[in-house]
Amino acid sequence: MKESYCGLCDQCQLDHPEFLEAVATVKSFADQFRIYWWGHCFWGDEGFSLPEFRRGLEWFLSHPECPGCRGGRGLDRCPIRICAINRRCEHCYECPDLAQCHRFKLILEEYPDHKQHLLRLQEQNHGRKTILKRG
Ligand code: SF4
Ligand code: SF4
Repeated sequence: MKESYCGLCDQCQLDHPEFLEAVATVKSFADQFRIYWWGHCFWGDEGFSLPEFRRGLEWFLSHPECPGCRGGRGLDRCPIRICAINRRCEHCYECPDLAQCHRFKLILEEYPDHKQHLLRLQEQNHGRKTILKRG
C-alpha cells in the first residue's frame, strides 16, 4: 500500500490495472509497428524521442509496485516528510499547524487543490473524534 505524509501517495494510481493494461496495449502496438520510421518523417521540434517513449512505456510496466514515501520512496530531502517525521506526525491532516503550513509550496503548483483536500480530511477527522468523545 502506498502511503505518504502529505497524502499524495495515498491517491497514487501508478498500479491502476486498466492504466497498465492500456500501456501494455500501446507497447504491443509499438513493438509491432515500425514506430522508428515515424521519427524519420517528423524530426526536429516537430517530433519527439521514440526510444524515450518506448522506455517510458516499459518504465510504467516495470514499476507498478511503490511503497510510497513512508516506505522509502519519494523526494530525497522533502521538507514535508522531514517535518512530519520530526513532529512524529503520521499524516499532515492530523497536524494542528496544517492551515498555516508553508511547506506545501512544492506540490501545490502541480496539485493546487491538495491542501484544501487535506483541510477537509482534517475537518472530517475532527468531527469523527468529537462524535466518539460524545459517545
Ligand atoms: S516525498 Fe514529500 S511530497 Fe512526496 S509524497 Fe512524500 S511527503 Fe509528499
Ligand atoms: S507543519 Fe504539519 S502540515 Fe506542515 S509539513 Fe509539518 S507535519 Fe505536515
